[in-house]
Amino acid sequence: MRAFKPYLDIDLAALCRNYRRLADMAPASEAASVVKCDAYGLGAAAVGAALMRHGKCRSFFVAYCGEGAALREALGSDPDIYIFNGPFETDLDAFREFRLIPVVNTIDQARLWAIEMKSAPAAIHIDTGMHRLGMPLNEAQDAAAADGLNVSLVMSHLACASDPAHPMNARQRAAMARLAALFPAARLSLSSSGGALLGAPFAYDMTRLGVGLYGVSPHETAVDQIEPVVRLSAPVLQVQEIEAGETVGYGASFTADRKSVLATVALGYGDGFPRAGSNRAAAVLGGAPCPIAGRVSMDLIVLDATDAPNRPDIGDRAEFFGPAMPIDAVAKACGTIGYELLTAIGGLAKRQSALGLRVERRYLWNGAPADATIAGE
Ligand SMILES: *Cc1c(COP(=O)(O)O)cnc(C)c1O
Repeated sequence: MRAFKPYLDIDLAALCRNYRRLADMAPASEAASVVKCDAYGLGAAAVGAALMRHGKCRSFFVAYCGEGAALREALGSDPDIYIFNGPFETDLDAFREFRLIPVVNTIDQARLWAIEMKSAPAAIHIDTGMHRLGMPLNEAQDAAAADGLNVSLVMSHLACASDPAHPMNARQRAAMARLAALFPAARLSLSSSGGALLGAPFAYDMTRLGVGLYGVSPHETAVDQIEPVVRLSAPVLQVQEIEAGETVGYGASFTADRKSVLATVALGYGDGFPRAGSNRAAAVLGGAPCPIAGRVSMDLIVLDATDAPNRPDIGDRAEFFGPAMPIDAVAKACGTIGYELLTAIGGLAKRQSALGLRVERRYLWNGAPADATIAGE
């Protein structure tokens, strides 16, 4: 039976291969996985389970304590789960109950953890130039002295990992040497996926891999090192022909310059597809990329299929990103980045359920439906 709704297909085997490729760039370091924001919209429970079982990943990072608690329930007691945003007084019970490891970002968080949690391990985030989260080096000295703080990991974050030639990368790496001297017993971590692609000197004891796992290239030179993981497709609801001079969609922002074949598909900004892709992005349909004609609506997008080798039919599926339509190029056409496309669309997508269904998330293993034990079902 053909379903007339969009699908977000997630190939967990491809995810695990990306994990292995990025991990193998620095075989001496541990490769941790970043599964914040529900694994960039792909489902942290399924992604985490696949990376643990098939990738042998044993450390995960999320932003919030609540995300960590849910991940602990999904993955069981084995993995280390780190919380980027650090400990707050209101969260301490959950940190205890779910055995979560905080990333301590301020001297106050260091004191809170040392006093309330005694010798439970903590990571500490030192700012080496990004000025987002983390404490400056001089405060880190006080944190190091804070009574009883058991620092197991010292991390920092690269501001310009998406640009391998940026001088900031070398500067931040130089700062890591001073951190290592301050915390001789702790493991060190600096790199996200972009940093991991900068090579072993940036890997230290642990890399924190995010977007590259999910098939988005951390930088343009890395496109062939990362394979696609996610495919967004939407079905054709209606096909029509219009004459030259006729217009399409709200605001009549597209005017046909010839007799044209239009395919209206079931996807829109209500599903997280950016309205900024109006008249700019394209989707593969009928064997070729077909440009979006006119504005993206809440539920609908019209594709200009005039040049497609095969005339589309009702129920055919247009691929908005995936193996045939690179997500990085689509993001660029929409004036954004792959991260935002994934979290926006994946965040609204749901597993099969009786009600309220729009985009349906489906898990695959090398193209076939994934084993039901994956995703903790
Ligand atoms: C999100 C995040 C990562 C992962 O980054 P990617 O670019 O997705 O690989 C790593 N470290 C920190 C601190 C992050 O916030």
